Amino acid sequence: MSAKKIPYKMYLSEEEMPKTWLNLKAFMPDQHDPFLNPATGKPCTAEELEAVFCTECVEQELNSTDREIEIPADIRNFYKTFRPSPLVRAYFLEEMLKTPAQIYYKFEGNNTSGSHKLNSAAAQAYYAKKQGLTSVTTETGAGQWGTALAMACAFYGLDLKVFMVKTSYEQKPYRKEVMKTYGADVVASPSDTTEAGRKILSEFPGTGGSLGCAIAEAVETAVKTQNCRYVLGSVLDHVLLHQTVIGQESKIALDKYGVQPDVVIGCAGGGSNFGGLIAPFMAEKLQGKNNIDFIGVEPASCPSMSRGKYAYDFCDSAKITPLAKMYTLGCGFMPSPDHAGGLRYHGMSPVVSKLYHDGYMRVRAVKQTEVFAAAEKFARCEGILPAPESSHAIKVAMDEAIKCRETGEKKVILFGLTGTGYFDLAAYKSFNEGTMKDYIPTEEDLARGFASLPRL
Ligand SMILES: *Cc1c(COP(=O)(O)O)cnc(C)c1O
Repeated sequence: MSAKKIPYKMYLSEEEMPKTWLNLKAFMPDQHDPFLNPATGKPCTAEELEAVFCTECVEQELNSTDREIEIPADIRNFYKTFRPSPLVRAYFLEEMLKTPAQIYYKFEGNNTSGSHKLNSAAAQAYYAKKQGLTSVTTETGAGQWGTALAMACAFYGLDLKVFMVKTSYEQKPYRKEVMKTYGADVVASPSDTTEAGRKILSEFPGTGGSLGCAIAEAVETAVKTQNCRYVLGSVLDHVLLHQTVIGQESKIALDKYGVQPDVVIGCAGGGSNFGGLIAPFMAEKLQGKNNIDFIGVEPASCPSMSRGKYAYDFCDSAKITPLAKMYTLGCGFMPSPDHAGGLRYHGMSPVVSKLYHDGYMRVRAVKQTEVFAAAEKFARCEGILPAPESSHAIKVAMDEAIKCRETGEKKVILFGLTGTGYFDLAAYKSFNEGTMKDYIPTEEDLARGFASLPRL
């Protein structure tokens, strides 16, 4: 290890920022199974995908050979409005935990969207504009993705319609105002503006909505609108690709100090920040150059990997998207509306799923009360109010550091702090007031979700 004293915060210069995204798939010995067209049961063609997504994003989605993909200069310049993000040595957390471990976190919350999602929003809006589109649609759950995309669309001059999961729409009125400030049209989902929304409203009149349903509405609107495409903030390979700036910046900074992580931890909802954080380290592991312990953390209330099936499933609950081979609880799985801790998606990135299935990483599922307890400890010593999603990674990083205290190991732990929790204060309130509950699906809940899996 280098003798250089490691600072509290490591920032790269603009020149040091990555000029390419890292295509993790090109390092994987086996590729995940292709998307299937549910109508034919055959792999989706590029043309089929291009009816829904931007052309360049489809090319990236299907590219499993180029190890690096250039980040256009326009996007790199946009990135400079909010990147590089700091890599922080968590000296205060180490001290609080009395651990011999070194803890680092990459903080992605330093932009108005409050999360890493702007990394992919910037890229996707750029490609939509370049293709000559005039508008895009999307869904948003907690609101970070919708905000990120609203910012990117404002930057590139595109119209945006956001279908926001109804529970969030009602719980987070200020999120909506942020998106509107950036020019987005925000609709509560399920809405009566689409067939998918009307169908779900008639079947489940009082529903608070779900990400899957909002996706269905956004896709339907995109394909029915001229010069419009749908953009997705997670799960897909090209989104994960854009998020590799997180891992690459982290690795460049750590390399400067001769630091090599032993454990890399990220929260996993759809898997994009986790995939992006681990990418350069995992690429080396796949080449036999390290033996890092990678841990994806998911909520016990929506345990896609730890209790899900590795199967083909729809990406949305209205069953209109292509089928992806992934860990899934079934597109009909409805996470408890009482779960405030984010990461409520039924499936998982096909790339992350494949890595997990092939034994290159492990998974932990944690309960939301223990996640908020960790968030509070972290906030009090490191200062940042973390997003509930990010706090899943904090919880497991703290557990790993406590294990080091017990064994005396001086492990280097890196985790992703994906965002801030300023719009999650209703959840913090229920934690502070002691009314927050843990929700763990029963075997029957899971069986009901699995029953919704398509039969192939
Ligand atoms: C969206 C979000 C996540 C989860 O999404 P992934 O695609 O799994 O990365 C995690 N943290 C924050 C702050 C988010 O906004």
